[in-house]
Amino acid sequence: MTAANKSKPKYTNRALPSKGVDWLNNPVFNKGTAFTDAERDALGLRGLLPPHVQSMDEQVRRVMANFRAKSSDLERYIQLVALQDRNETLFYRVVMDHLEEMMPIIYTPTVGKACQEFGHIFRRSRGMYVSLNDRGNVQKVLENWPTRDVKVIVVTDGERILGLGDLGASGMGIPIGKLSLYTACAGIHPTQCLPITIDVGTNNENFLKDPLYTGLRQKRLTGADYDAMIEEFIVAARKTFPGVLIQFEDFGNSNAFRLLERYRHEVCTFNDDIQGTGSVALAGVLSALRITGGKMSDHRVLMLGAGEAGMGIADNIVAVLREEGLTLAEARKRIWFVDSKGLIVKSREGLVAHKLHYAHEHAPCSDLLSAVKSIKPTMLVGVSGQARAFTEEIVKLMGANNPRPVIFALSNPTSKAECTAEEAYKWTDGRAVFASGSPFAPVTLNGKTHVPGQGNNAYIFPGVGLGVVASGAKRVTDSMFVTAAKSLATLLREEELAEGRIYPSLKRIHEVSLKIAVAVAEEAYATKLTDQTRPADLTAFIKSQMFQPEYNHYA
Ligand code: NAD
Repeated sequence: MTAANKSKPKYTNRALPSKGVDWLNNPVFNKGTAFTDAERDALGLRGLLPPHVQSMDEQVRRVMANFRAKSSDLERYIQLVALQDRNETLFYRVVMDHLEEMMPIIYTPTVGKACQEFGHIFRRSRGMYVSLNDRGNVQKVLENWPTRDVKVIVVTDGERILGLGDLGASGMGIPIGKLSLYTACAGIHPTQCLPITIDVGTNNENFLKDPLYTGLRQKRLTGADYDAMIEEFIVAARKTFPGVLIQFEDFGNSNAFRLLERYRHEVCTFNDDIQGTGSVALAGVLSALRITGGKMSDHRVLMLGAGEAGMGIADNIVAVLREEGLTLAEARKRIWFVDSKGLIVKSREGLVAHKLHYAHEHAPCSDLLSAVKSIKPTMLVGVSGQARAFTEEIVKLMGANNPRPVIFALSNPTSKAECTAEEAYKWTDGRAVFASGSPFAPVTLNGKTHVPGQGNNAYIFPGVGLGVVASGAKRVTDSMFVTAAKSLATLLREEELAEGRIYPSLKRIHEVSLKIAVAVAEEAYATKLTDQTRPADLTAFIKSQMFQPEYNHYA
């Protein structure tokens, strides 16, 4: 009997390694220099590690010293990915203990740069790739994954990575990063997470010419062939990993809306770019109402950008307006869109389906400035990917029309933000209620410090995912995202609001995710979306399932 059998490790869905060096090469089990003397003897590790046994705290200190000494964020990203591939427990300890510092590296904005450079910084494969060459065999491919116990898949086809366009198979950095956040923010067990890229080709000419690009060298599959590939993947994923939650991520605009509509009523799935963004922005809007006063129906919202994020946000605001008693038509009329062709109005021809709902009777306006002059919004939301689109004149106009103008510049990465935090505060004499997609530092103006909110989807999707997984919900509903937004908004403390914050500090992310998970699970039980029985103490039940990055003892 090996020593490993003597002491039962906490939850793991992987077979224990058999001999010494395999323990070091397996990131799920590796403890590196923290293997104790007893473990080194029992597992055949004696001599394979330097003699001093380190505590996890000492290891964390070493990682952080190296991290802070790196010369660029991309180098920091590479360091963290290497750690994740070497010792997953230590990776999560580091990330969870320093989330505010780590989030911009493992996710936006640095992950965008990492995807652009993916083939050039590639070290070791993580997750799974399903390519169009696997058509007819997708299930066999998925069965190569070492366990069937997968609870969450994040899948992309790489067509629209953040605001960076078609990055093909290099988009893999996004599912990997998102799933790291599922674990870091909500404690979904890392071995139950599976990042997947569906490589249907790319139209990125630079990548097609780049010898280091990791994907197929061909143009994107489209039309019925594309749909058949996605269908085969969905069927195979559900068969291989029964009950799995499938999150669509960074699909191109037309596919994203279509696929969500196609699968949401039959499969446990959601699209974070649409529904997650809608939810986190709604939470920001609800918090902003606590500052501006009044109800949602007292406001007029003007959105710049009518894509996945814009539509998700609008639909969630409509849900709240309907709760305030407005009809669907009345609610939609409170929200206006400007896209690349100007104000979306009824008389415009050739509008795609998702824009039609928000096409109102109005004379055309060719640009944002004239739309702001005419609509006089109380809330201006940027999700256009157009850097500096909120000019000084526009922001000042918002300030002139409103005592507390609500201005969200949500486009990522930082370089694409519609305005900076400093500009929003400066041009409104500190009166703006501001949020952005990528983080901005606090701004001090006339002696008062304003803390800009970061409308980070990581406030929402990990908690929603945890609630769905813990309750065994079979579907993910729009209403769950509205519930999640309300839970997030109510968590904001008065002292945080006084600083101008509209989202709680990321330091509170575990509390946030747990609260959202409980609310989402409650909804799953109440609406009978699950066959499971509600545990008497739901919070304790969910908490007990949350992964803690602590080493197991194997001897
Ligand atoms: P998308 O490609 O689906 O939509 C972009 C929209 O912007 C399209 O409707 C396009 O027509 C419009 N647009 C392009 N040029 C324009 C112009 N000159 N003027 C006005 N509109 C223009 O992308 P998306 O998923 O909706 O994301 C948009 C942006 O929002 C991205 O930068 C993304 O990073 C950001 N985003 C932020 C968050 C967040 O903060 N939590 C979440 C999701 C997306």
